[in-house]
Amino acid sequence: MRMLFILAAVLLVHTGCAQHAASASATSGNPYYSHTDTTTLHVTDAEWKKILPSDLYATAREANTEIAFTGKYWKTDVKGTYYCAVCGNTLFRSTAKFASTCGWPSFFESIRPNAVIYREDTSYGMDREEVLCGRCGSHLGHRFDDGPPPTHKRFCMNSISLDFVEDSTAK
Ligand SMILES: [Zn+2]
Repeated sequence: MRMLFILAAVLLVHTGCAQHAASASATSGNPYYSHTDTTTLHVTDAEWKKILPSDLYATAREANTEIAFTGKYWKTDVKGTYYCAVCGNTLFRSTAKFASTCGWPSFFESIRPNAVIYREDTSYGMDREEVLCGRCGSHLGHRFDDGPPPTHKRFCMNSISLDFVEDSTAK
């Protein structure tokens, strides 16, 4: 019973964080944010810490994973484009998103090969492929080999690391 209370408290805290992040403008006070500039960024964690909301910083720069089924995009199915929440880099199209039961937004491919970069991640005793933003190097999530055709890859992303713009509202 006590564990249930603790779990409920943790879930509440995380839900609160997600709502806070959604209400904050990603571009306000972030001079690096751009949907068109593809120049590779070399920004220190110390500087990102001053710019980013603390919950986005924890995931993007410290590889913190949000709790499943709590992120803002895990069940989003409208047409649009997903950008890096840290730098605005174009990452995924909604056409590559699929309904995954894992509780995180999942894609079978990135919008272009160099939109993201990969790094071996052996943390927590697992051998996983970490996915990072190709422009700013921020942690986005992991890539697994159990996705649907045509790639059979599953890009398992943190919602907080993504900014979604619906097609009809895209400028
Ligand atoms: Zn980025």
